[in-house]
Amino acid sequence: MTTIKASCPTCGDVELTPTQLRLVVANVTERSFYSFHCAKCTSEVRKPADEEIVALLVSGGVRAERWTIPAEALEVRAGDRISYDDVLDFALALDRVDTLTALLTPSSGA
Ligand SMILES: [Zn+2]
Repeated sequence: MTTIKASCPTCGDVELTPTQLRLVVANVTERSFYSFHCAKCTSEVRKPADEEIVALLVSGGVRAERWTIPAEALEVRAGDRISYDDVLDFALALDRVDTLTALLTPSSGA
């Protein structure tokens, strides 16, 4: 059986089998990672996995999970956060749209 050496920040080097490792390969390399539960301290250890580490773990028998991160999750956000007042203003604006729509829509003649 293949033994994979990894490092726990608390315990140092640990030996794992491929099934004890979780490998997540994202469509954005910087989001790929591998993780395991340390047998000594039981902490979950999670570390980034670049292409070289992914190839090494896969060749060692670790099954890779594929993640597709949606583009909107990667958007850079700027500006202030939406406040409660902003949400109220939006709701009031929607109400004005309904009123305008009712005025512009021909009545059914009922
Ligand atoms: Zn540990």
